[in-house]
Amino acid sequence: MEKGQEIYEGKAKKLYSTTNPELIIVCYKDDATAFNGLKKGTILGKGIINNKMSNLLMQHLEKIGIPTQFVRELNDRETLVKKVRIIALEVIVRNIAAGSFAKHYGVEEGIVFEHPTIEFSYKNDALGDPLLNEEHALALKLVSKEELALIKKYSFKINDVLKAFWKECAVTLVDFKLEFGKLTDGTIILADEISPDTSRLWDSKTGEKLDKDRFRFDLGRVEEAYAEIFKRLEAHT
Ligand code: UDP
Repeated sequence: MEKGQEIYEGKAKKLYSTTNPELIIVCYKDDATAFNGLKKGTILGKGIINNKMSNLLMQHLEKIGIPTQFVRELNDRETLVKKVRIIALEVIVRNIAAGSFAKHYGVEEGIVFEHPTIEFSYKNDALGDPLLNEEHALALKLVSKEELALIKKYSFKINDVLKAFWKECAVTLVDFKLEFGKLTDGTIILADEISPDTSRLWDSKTGEKLDKDRFRFDLGRVEEAYAEIFKRLEAHT
């Protein structure tokens, strides 16, 4: 397996082909964006942390029966992953009100839900990733009914597992975004990343935000928050 050409550059990652058509290499950058690309910046060392964190969490999820894209970590910033066709559906699971939920529904951040919520948005930057419901996703043929049921089942299971995992690290899992992809045989697997870029993580004791909200809202100590969350994760794996 050898690294080939760059095939895609996204906001936080680059993708490279490999000599194996079923595998690609993902390279995590330090670039950060927020508010649909309106705010741009750099979080030094973020690419390394997100690469390693995502890989550790995906391996943990594999162990409990969630199929993922992860194959092998190659170096600090690069990982070999299964090539998938990304399903144009972003899945957001929430345990606590924050971010756009608090804004849309006019509630305070920090309200703990009795049951987690799930919502979907259409992965389409030009349209600003609009929210959609299950029937909309079916109408747009983003997924079949069976695929959607499986994606929901996986997402809630992932929430249960990650919530418990982060709790042991004295971190509260507030919410997170998942993306799924399809292998050529139609199998649905977890794709993209699980990191402080895509999750809200609060210190369980102090409530301090240890995620990308520090960058979004200029809260300072951004690099320190990423490093702190990674330190706690590593201590627990
Ligand atoms: N999220 C993400 N990518 C997106 C939108 C949201 O990774 O394009 C993550 C975000 O980091 C948070 C969760 O999904 O952990 C819920 O985000 P929310 O809908 O509250 O949107 P935001 O406030 O980030 O605009």
